[in-house]
Amino acid sequence: KLAQFPFVRELDGFDFEAQPSLDQGQIRELATCRWIAHGDTLMLLGPPGTGKTHLAVSLGREAIRQNYNVQFITAATLVAMLAKAHADGALDKQLTTLSRPKLLIIDELGYLPFEANAAHLFFQLVSRRYEKGAILITSNRSVGEWGSVFGDPVVATAILDRLLHHSTVITIRGDSYRLREKRRSGLLQ
Ligand code: ADP
Ligand code: MG
Repeated sequence: KLAQFPFVRELDGFDFEAQPSLDQGQIRELATCRWIAHGDTLMLLGPPGTGKTHLAVSLGREAIRQNYNVQFITAATLVAMLAKAHADGALDKQLTTLSRPKLLIIDELGYLPFEANAAHLFFQLVSRRYEKGAILITSNRSVGEWGSVFGDPVVATAILDRLLHHSTVITIRGDSYRLREKRRSGLLQ
């Protein structure tokens, strides 16, 4: 009942030829959801418009078909939710709620920098889910840039230490698919 995907997308609608930096076999393997059963982490990194959210939604829908509970949330909404819970003295309850779905998809990490306290709150969430629930993160930033995303290199290192322990990191390269479509239809030079 959770999910809340921003749009409906399937893996079958993904044009792998347009994205040669991706290994289709690796994505198909991820669609088996074994990594979710293990409570692992998947990071989809790359510039805007390269299909990160499309893949995240597709994998999330696949997980639902396999009867996993899935929650999709943007990093900005997640951090706001944690900050509010913290201010209300309800952080523990919120962390418990966010630990329930077997797969938590956190979209668009790094578009907005975190405040210092947000990094601590995010760390607590990652710790709570560590080795229990799977996390899928999409980000336009490389892992090396996470220190500045979180505004706190020490906390960023602690977060990454947990996230990267059992993880797959996929870096997508190339041009925005959105702009490619526009270019094709003559809307862009
Ligand atoms: P990102 O999250 O990386 O910014 P999105 O996943 O939102 O990008 O992709 C932008 C739009 O382009 C979406 O409508 C998505 O379905 C579509 N898209 C991106 N890459 C592909 C692709 N390789 N094949 C088909 N559609 C794609
Ligand atoms: Mg996106």
